Amino acid sequence: MTTHPYETRLRGAAEQAATAELAGLAVTPGADLVYLTGYAPPPLERLTLLVVRVDRDPVLLVPALERPAAASCPIGDRIEIVGWIDGEDPYERAAGLLGSGRFAITDSAWASHLIGLQRAAGGCSFVPASAALPLLRAIKDDGELELLRRVADAADRAFAEVLGIRFSGRTEREVAGELAVALERHGHQEVGFTIVGSGPNGASPHHEPGPRRIEPGDAVVLDFGGRIDGYCSDITRTVVVGEPDPQLEEVYQVVRAAQQAAFEAIAPDVPAERVDAAARAVIAAAGYGERFVHRTGHGIGLEVHEPPYIVSGNATPLRPGMTFSVEPGVYLPGRFGVRIEDIVAVTDDGAVRLNQATRELQMVP
Ligand code: ZN
Ligand code: ZN
Ligand code: ZN
Repeated sequence: MTTHPYETRLRGAAEQAATAELAGLAVTPGADLVYLTGYAPPPLERLTLLVVRVDRDPVLLVPALERPAAASCPIGDRIEIVGWIDGEDPYERAAGLLGSGRFAITDSAWASHLIGLQRAAGGCSFVPASAALPLLRAIKDDGELELLRRVADAADRAFAEVLGIRFSGRTEREVAGELAVALERHGHQEVGFTIVGSGPNGASPHHEPGPRRIEPGDAVVLDFGGRIDGYCSDITRTVVVGEPDPQLEEVYQVVRAAQQAAFEAIAPDVPAERVDAAARAVIAAAGYGERFVHRTGHGIGLEVHEPPYIVSGNATPLRPGMTFSVEPGVYLPGRFGVRIEDIVAVTDDGAVRLNQATRELQMVP
């Protein structure tokens, strides 16, 4: 038998765990499980747990009634699957598989599952996977890069389409609805989020689109994304309704220059925090340092936010194949916000943008 791609990933995960001096990984439903096995059950109250130990073959513990579903996952015929029956204590079964030692556990594991494991597996301790193994899914293979390129392109086309619609006089919620339709029309299988922050609402970076009516002269922050085959898009563009006033024009050019500076700072071996510093330096020099209130970016893949985080204090060296957002912003409370966000991929000698939508300030009707 040839090596299955998921077997390669499982082996890589065990190697990373060994390097991090862990006994292994305890993986519950979510992005890590999908990444390692292709198995994507919904996270529920019954325990599903993939145990990857550095010194043993992986074992997938599932509720007995989900065994057929688990067996039909891409790696179902090459991995040991153990079923537990309702009425049994699944944590006791898990404890037998875990043995003892320090495990990286899925960040989003339910508290009830973690507490059950802590009770039954007294010889084990658990640390969040994103902290213990931040690079588990960070370096994308060619297939993943292709999907990320496709989904970014679909988001670009959704943006181009939305530039043609009327903003003035319509509510944020209506524009958000149009964005969702455009995302789907251009190939997204799932709409993740559609932030529309108009005028003063744009100064709140994660504003929920609401009933505010968009007015002539407003800056409008559009931050949206979704999924194709599990992989995420995430793009932000700020547009203006009609002509921009001089301060909006000024702030826009500052954010655009900051985004460009951050992009140009990216190369293999560069610490992640240096990309953040590059964006911040441009914004601070223009006098808006206090108004850039978040990190410059986040990794993206099967999850919309995942390591590596492009933030001060993160010295993780960038590697070819890493994908993350570059999204500086300036927020003036009571007035407006500007953010520009692209997804980028680190290459052997720099980076490429996966989003190609124009970064020139666009005027909308
Ligand atoms: Zn965000
Ligand atoms: Zn975004
Ligand atoms: Zn983002």
